Amino acid sequence: MSDPASPHLSVVIPVYNEEPNLPTLFARLYPVLDALGRPYEIVFTNDGSADRSMELLRAQHAARPDVTRVVDFNANYGQHMAIMAAFERVRGEVVVTLDADLQDPPEEIPKLLEKIDAGHDYVGGVRLNRQDSLFRTWASKLINVVRHHTTNIEMTDQGCMLRAYRRAVVDAVVRSGAINTFIPALAYSFAGNPAEVGVRHDERHAGISNYSFYKLVRLNFDLITGFSLAPLQLFTLFALVCAAGSFLLVLVLAYRRLVLGAEAEGIFTLFGIVFFLLSVAMVGIGLIGEYVGRTYQVVRARQQYHVREMLETKTRAP
Ligand code: UDP
Ligand code: MG
Repeated sequence: MSDPASPHLSVVIPVYNEEPNLPTLFARLYPVLDALGRPYEIVFTNDGSADRSMELLRAQHAARPDVTRVVDFNANYGQHMAIMAAFERVRGEVVVTLDADLQDPPEEIPKLLEKIDAGHDYVGGVRLNRQDSLFRTWASKLINVVRHHTTNIEMTDQGCMLRAYRRAVVDAVVRSGAINTFIPALAYSFAGNPAEVGVRHDERHAGISNYSFYKLVRLNFDLITGFSLAPLQLFTLFALVCAAGSFLLVLVLAYRRLVLGAEAEGIFTLFGIVFFLLSVAMVGIGLIGEYVGRTYQVVRARQQYHVREMLETKTRAP
């Protein structure tokens, strides 16, 4: 259909154990893209799925070799690294990301492209009717507030992966060599003219979310610590206030000891204060550890994922 060497649009989809969703995804996605009338490619990354996702992707590549490419990871490296691997390989001028579980309806892609055509280099989807658990929705609102106050990244719905980017923004993301990152936020920092557009959000077509509570916490830590030093700085401020308070307390206690003599009542209050300060110190150490860990990973500069196989139609030599 199109020349695989120069598609206009690249659609990037991370796939982790999506066997029950892939057939419906294929059935809905390809017609939408075929109807656009622009040359396109779809780059799937199989993120170490343990089910038959890779077989389905292989069959799909055989069925539509002109527009289908598959990056096959040897293990599970996470959604954002899966997207990163595809970003490194995209050939299109415009790149759209999408989840494989049909929570982001493929039918909404043209809306994003309209904004790109209007001159924006970054278009973020905003889920109009979010279909996630109450806990997810509220946790996400909370993180939104924290992000708003600690970074200069402005987006209404950071969790929505239905997004479109101009190639220059994607190239900047790749060049940044970032690891453990939050791609929409990183891309935002390279965008010149960002925009948002409301998109539909559906319930997961089948299966359950791949995000465990732990993975969600990690991802949001990446979002906050990956883009600002505010947690460290706020902590230092807080520690200073605590130190001043404790110093005053010591003065008061010393005064009482000298004037009123020995007294035992205050001992539990003191314990309380000591435990509080200890926990503050522990949070601080953890926070520093977070940054040291990030620094370590960058310094180590090790390839963060391994591609076992690449399914694609070789492009003609120029
Ligand atoms: N995903 C992935 N690797 C992972 C976890 C998820 O590639 O380790 C993919 C998954 O297949 C889906 C997208 O990332 O296409 C979003 O995952 P999920 O639907 O589980 O997350 P949620 O919608 O609950 O945020
Ligand atoms: Mg989902």
